[in-house]
Amino acid sequence: MFDVEFPVRSPEVLAPVIGQDRVDNLIATGDYARSELLGRRVVSINSTASGGGVAEMLPVLLAYVAGVDVGCDWLVLEGNSEFFEITKRLHHRLHGERGDGGPLGEHEREVFEEVAHQNQDDAQRLLAPGDVVLLHDPQPAGLAKWLHESKVPLIWRCHIGVDARNEYTKQGWDFLRPLLAPYIDQYVFTRREYAPDWVPNERLHVIKPSLDPFAPKNRELADNHVQAILQHIGILRSADSEQIGDHAPVERVADIVSEGPAPTADAQMVVQVSRWDPLKDMAGVMRGFLADPGCADARLVLAGPDVSSVSDDPEGQVVLAEVIKEWEGLAESDRRRIQIVCFPMDDPEENAFMVNALQRHAAIVVQKSLKEGFGLTVTEAMLKGRPVVASAVGGIVDQIRDGVDGILIQDPRDPAELGRALSSLLGDPTAANKMGQEAKAAVVSQFLPDSSLNQWGKALDSAMKPTAD
Ligand code: UDP
Repeated sequence: MFDVEFPVRSPEVLAPVIGQDRVDNLIATGDYARSELLGRRVVSINSTASGGGVAEMLPVLLAYVAGVDVGCDWLVLEGNSEFFEITKRLHHRLHGERGDGGPLGEHEREVFEEVAHQNQDDAQRLLAPGDVVLLHDPQPAGLAKWLHESKVPLIWRCHIGVDARNEYTKQGWDFLRPLLAPYIDQYVFTRREYAPDWVPNERLHVIKPSLDPFAPKNRELADNHVQAILQHIGILRSADSEQIGDHAPVERVADIVSEGPAPTADAQMVVQVSRWDPLKDMAGVMRGFLADPGCADARLVLAGPDVSSVSDDPEGQVVLAEVIKEWEGLAESDRRRIQIVCFPMDDPEENAFMVNALQRHAAIVVQKSLKEGFGLTVTEAMLKGRPVVASAVGGIVDQIRDGVDGILIQDPRDPAELGRALSSLLGDPTAANKMGQEAKAAVVSQFLPDSSLNQWGKALDSAMKPTAD
């Protein structure tokens, strides 16, 4: 287990975006939390410092928590490849999918407990007496028993879930229940429907993820700056790359699979940015893009992290290889319109600027997930005033009002429906732009850090009065 650094950000910086009243409200939440905690800290534990929604969101929230003088820390649990294979399997099952089809039985639970045990000494060293611990997602669940026995107030934050139940979700929850139910004081889910029925209602909190408008991932970038970054990393064609590259806050370049010259800045670009996970259905985006003649003049960019870099995501390599294989089988004229991009992850800030520039440059951002707890990429694109076309699955239906601030695809497995939605927006830039502006306003009103931190204040307050058996 290791400690991860994060920035400290005063809530006052949010004032130009959310107004002084909301800033004052956030400061008051901080004052209250401090008076309750009496110098103790809130320590988050997850299983990766980079890649994916949790690693994205945590430092943002922690920066503002620290900014209102509430003590907090971020620890990352370390595991082996067998452990991450099991956590990936569990992730799929909790989304109602078979995943690799492997078992979730006694042996797998022992692996969980063994990894927790291996992290225990570090946890003991890094935690201080009185800390409140927030466990994120299933990976650190094995620590709950020991932490509970050490009298640590515990909150479990589940970032995943599906509304509908099936045999796979049952297997996932049956696996987790004995690791969590006897020990957790408070539960936080993204939607009420995601919680299994053994989570007591009075200990359940619903908090929607938020994002930081000033983080490198989201901050405003001028058009020429956006172009400079995309030219430097190789997604856009560059007349004079050396000179333009000097202005980009990025040094590395992306690893790009493509054919023919990169597009120029004036080409309409359809973009999906996500991990290489089967549930993100990158290949499906490609099929939908190619299904409609209205997309014929546009370009598609499928972008995700360098697959060797996300430690808790062993499937990435396989999924990326499958997408590339499908791309290789396309007609040359189709291949020339599609770029498959892997962003270097060595420096999270540099990666964030790359994603920011790509989302900002997009004519349309897609999130064609087959399942999604809550799509951070959707909120990110909406904040940037981009029209988003996304599947009507999971938390995405709380993020997009269909036809107002984005388009929801009712059947995420139907390429034709995606193609039609893309082509309608590409053909009507004025409507697309209006949709993007609505999207930006919706994010400012609901999904910025003060909204979720005020709710976190309540969950924390409850956790300070332990209720677990
Ligand atoms: N992301 C990133 N670099 C990448 C791909 C994804 O920083 O190459 C980020 C993306 O911008 C978003 C997060 O990873 O902030 C993904 O969160 P989301 O909720 O969309 O999906 P998850 O990965 O949690 O399933």
